[in-house]
Amino acid sequence: MSDANVKQLREELDSINLELLSLLSKRASIVQEIADIKTKQGVTKFDPEREKEMLDRLVEHNEGPFENDAVRHLFKQIFKASLQLQKDDSKKHLLVSRKKQAEDTVVTLGSTQVGNGTPTIVAGPCSVESEEQVRAVAKALKNNGVTLMRGGAFKPRTSPYDFQGLGVEGLEILRRVADEYELQVISEIVSPSDIELATKYVDVIQIGARNMQNFELLKAAGNVNTPVLLKRGLSATMEEFLHAAEYIVSRGNKNVILCERGIRTYEKWTRNTLDISAVPLLKNESHLPVVVDVTHSAGRRDILVPLAKAALAAGADAVMVEVHPNPAVALSDAQQQIDIPTFDQFMTDLHASKLFPSLVE
Ligand code: PEP
Ligand code: MN
Repeated sequence: MSDANVKQLREELDSINLELLSLLSKRASIVQEIADIKTKQGVTKFDPEREKEMLDRLVEHNEGPFENDAVRHLFKQIFKASLQLQKDDSKKHLLVSRKKQAEDTVVTLGSTQVGNGTPTIVAGPCSVESEEQVRAVAKALKNNGVTLMRGGAFKPRTSPYDFQGLGVEGLEILRRVADEYELQVISEIVSPSDIELATKYVDVIQIGARNMQNFELLKAAGNVNTPVLLKRGLSATMEEFLHAAEYIVSRGNKNVILCERGIRTYEKWTRNTLDISAVPLLKNESHLPVVVDVTHSAGRRDILVPLAKAALAAGADAVMVEVHPNPAVALSDAQQQIDIPTFDQFMTDLHASKLFPSLVE
């Protein structure tokens, strides 16, 4: 066969490729139309019966030279790509997705905005233990220009014999002290039936890592207007995390803040592994603000400053850190909370890094 013949045959192949591509694209747009109808009907998109029917029909009409198995294989790839296309489409429709809303969601908490491009700090004790304890921490926050105070009143503890928190009394203490120092309160709620009650005391409802997929709790938090700080589950993927946030937003509560708090890995030198890549991934994929809890990520005090710097450099909207007047006697997380002088130093180090604005005039 002459070179000229090969050249001509190749040209034919090139034009068949283009024809095939155009047919595949046409097929894909029909698949998308079907997907839209199925979404409206709320039925699943993958239909194995239908797929089998199409493959049988193709094999029936196969005149070669491809073997039937080869035909099946080729078309299965086309079906797989179509299904993927439908999945991408449903992702596009997530309310928390940037594809749905390009501009950043900014959550306004008193005088502080989370997600407006200027990073901020959330600090406070792991658990509310007494009014004096919360007051000492509130004073330190105020001195450092920090307006967002965290503190746990309902504590999800690994052991039922450990301190479970002061409950409503803890929320009352937080509210009283926060009002005194003009702070905003962030506190975890663990039960859907307490969400309504929480709105009377807190400015932000925290949903903890262990409850990230407590769907009834997510739905209850979605039914109120109080902003929600949603922590990433101990082993949750980005997709699971964003779908959990979608539960809240889809119920009408748009003020959701995502919180990366470290994930479980084989590493024992830290309590969890801070997944720093979660920050740019979440910022790219979603318009919601992203907070990094350095304390629960590390589970130790000595690496909090570099982790906070890494979080801010990666684009976090806020850093969360646990502060206790006397960590040695703390009723929870004694080994990871920092005392007040260390917190002052933490703030000084962040300001010095230029990754963080000065909060004090
Ligand atoms: C907390 O922030 O108090 C807490 C319990 O954290 P996590 O849910 O991330 O473990
Ligand atoms: Mn804690």
